[in-house]
Amino acid sequence: MFEPIIHFIRQTFQKPEGFIPLHEPRFIGNERKYVLDAIDSTFVSSVGAYVNRFEEQIKQYTGVSYAIACSNGTSALHIALILAGVEQNDLVITQPLSFIATCNAISYLKAQPLFVDIDKRTLGLSAEKLADFLEKETEIRENQCFYKQTNQKIRACVPMHTFGHPAEIDKIQEICQKYGINLVEDAAESLGSLYKNRHTGTFGLVGTYSLNGNKTITSGGGGVIVTNDEKLGKLARHLTTQAKVPHAWEFVHDYVGYNYRMPNLNAALAVAQMEKLAEFIESKRQLAQIYANFFQNTDIEFCLEPENSRSMYWLNAILLKNREERDRFLEFSNKNGVMSRPSWRLMHELEMFEKCPRANLANAIEIQNRLVNLPSSVRI
Ligand SMILES: *Cc1c(COP(=O)(O)O)cnc(C)c1O
Repeated sequence: MFEPIIHFIRQTFQKPEGFIPLHEPRFIGNERKYVLDAIDSTFVSSVGAYVNRFEEQIKQYTGVSYAIACSNGTSALHIALILAGVEQNDLVITQPLSFIATCNAISYLKAQPLFVDIDKRTLGLSAEKLADFLEKETEIRENQCFYKQTNQKIRACVPMHTFGHPAEIDKIQEICQKYGINLVEDAAESLGSLYKNRHTGTFGLVGTYSLNGNKTITSGGGGVIVTNDEKLGKLARHLTTQAKVPHAWEFVHDYVGYNYRMPNLNAALAVAQMEKLAEFIESKRQLAQIYANFFQNTDIEFCLEPENSRSMYWLNAILLKNREERDRFLEFSNKNGVMSRPSWRLMHELEMFEKCPRANLANAIEIQNRLVNLPSSVRI
């Protein structure tokens, strides 16, 4: 019964046989030229013209004041949480439906995730569930929000824009503000997605993007921290470069810093990919429309961009009836060379996080049981 879907996907990607991956990068612009130029310049590590150029591109594109290129999205998140003041034993609100990097970054600081449910429409953190949870389970003392059950500080909130679809980020921002919780956007999957005409990643105190090889554009490995706060922007740059005090020859450091800056070699790739981003997003939005039209005539639900938003549709997703049907689809499509996969195992079900505090997570559980990602590469 899934045969027509596989046939349709093969037709859409003009690949009657052979393997169709979930998401592969496209290098159809200046990638070779810039990477070779970076090699010829001998500046291949974390100093070089392409790193600065890439950061300028991000600033121009998203409209933020500060962009700091990092070695990957996870390191960007790690620093973003430091900027948000997260400390040992703090709680950080996030969603259970996310890639492991979000919870790992929280754990690096010896803080703990606190799981709040997602919205079934956006697949991101639910503003309604967040407000409900904070009202019932927390209290504010001296401008700091505490989780009543354990008396831990809730220092930050990290919603994630799942598969490129924007969460209701303005509402989430308002709620966080009311409770004195710092908002960090994990926009790893949504570089180029707009919510009410504004870029995801730019609503919070800090936002992060990823340029990993499976994301819409890639630098091999890479990430970016963005913020409009001058102090935080400067601190982010300092922390990602071993906290070295600028000097022509002296090596003096004033903090335990990190070697997290993006190498120039990767930035060369990133600059070329940024030049293609708008074109890639057009292509991805077209693909999503083709999927949407196809699934309209079936009893399978296609995940459309939520209201008030313009998604870059990093990964297309469908919802099957239940877990059994989902597993049958995964089995059939993968056996037939069309890659599909379920969403990540929910974070609160992983051994490291199973004891973390949580609200009711019914939506995330339902979505995890039903969702499948379909091939979503830019078509050329
Ligand atoms: C890709 C991704 C990251 C960052 O991953 P890196 O591989 O370290 O760049 C973080 N959060 C989410 C939700 C992601 O999908």
